Amino acid sequence: MADQTCAVCGMHINEGHAVTEERDGVTHQFCSEGCRDAFLNDQGASDQMGGMIS
Ligand SMILES: [Zn+2]
Repeated sequence: MADQTCAVCGMHINEGHAVTEERDGVTHQFCSEGCRDAFLNDQGASDQMGGMIS
């Protein structure tokens, strides 16, 4: 797997430097822990919003 891009900012990730997070059976890859946190916060916010609206 040579071609890795951050799921948040789309930046190319150097091999061996990817931060990974498995969610709902899918492994997402990020360039940094900051991007991973942003991704997780996004997901949480969306879930909470959806719950409040419905
Ligand atoms: Zn990133």
